[in-house]
Amino acid sequence: MGLTEYRKKRDFKKTKEPSGAKSKKAKTSRLFVIQKHAASHLHYDFRLEYDGVLKSWAVPKGPSLDPSVKRLAVEVEDHPYDYASFEGEIPQEEYGGGEVIVWDHGDWTPASGKTISEMLDHGHLEFTLDGEKLRGSWALVRTKRQTSSRATSKHQWLLFKRSDEFARPGGPEMTDERPESVLSGKLLAIDARHAPKRAASRKSTSKSTSKRKRVGKRLSKRVKKKDPLPAAIAPQLARLVNEAPVGSDWLHEIKFDGYRIIARIEAGKVRLFTRNGHDWTDKYKPIADALKKLKVKSAILGKEGLKSSEI
Ligand code: MN
Repeated sequence: MGLTEYRKKRDFKKTKEPSGAKSKKAKTSRLFVIQKHAASHLHYDFRLEYDGVLKSWAVPKGPSLDPSVKRLAVEVEDHPYDYASFEGEIPQEEYGGGEVIVWDHGDWTPASGKTISEMLDHGHLEFTLDGEKLRGSWALVRTKRQTSSRATSKHQWLLFKRSDEFARPGGPEMTDERPESVLSGKLLAIDARHAPKRAASRKSTSKSTSKRKRVGKRLSKRVKKKDPLPAAIAPQLARLVNEAPVGSDWLHEIKFDGYRIIARIEAGKVRLFTRNGHDWTDKYKPIADALKKLKVKSAILGKEGLKSSEI
């Protein structure tokens, strides 16, 4: 797990090989993500970025904001960093088959005093979360090694909230209040049956948008794609059907009749094109100006453009 084995074998007073401690100390915060996973048993996968991977625990009941409620968290294998943005369907016949949504994400910061490695070794992590749903001080404490008939035994931990202004003794629980994905607003199918309208209304607060961008930016920094923008891209077009699709995979919006616009952002410059390749940057200048404020170096975006006088 991580670099422990690597470090165990070396005395860094004697060898000049890197201990890996430097980059760790330079960072003040790391990514955390909680994925809600409707596998054979619904659970929340709690993951903390450490040493380039995501330390992971499966929390059957999910985190509680009540400090007196300690939730079982079963240690599972480290997951790759890129897993943090994974949302979708794992095929039923595969390991962990079922739907996954990103239930919360943000930064986690270990409590000062001990290194993360020490805290993990001692089985006692104290940290703060700065997510969209979960905030403040939390603790993860190892209890015992789960004995099972299987060859692989797993460590059991308890995840619980420390008392602070973000705690909610006696509830309500964030898991009930905010069942949706922080990335897409989607609900798992099992939740959508109970509260079909929640997802859309929660979808886009400005705060969650800015945080999503931050996390997205950080992810894209690590997964660098250096390919240039394609010269042209075919816009995704509406298709006429008799009935609107239903289910948690869909979000619905009113279709205004305007012009299909493709925005190209390159080296800080924004240009807007129609489907036929006409440059309409000047016609929709307010849109171009708004896109200039996006903190991205390059992107191709597609949307319907219209003036309010055209509605
Ligand atoms: Mn899982």
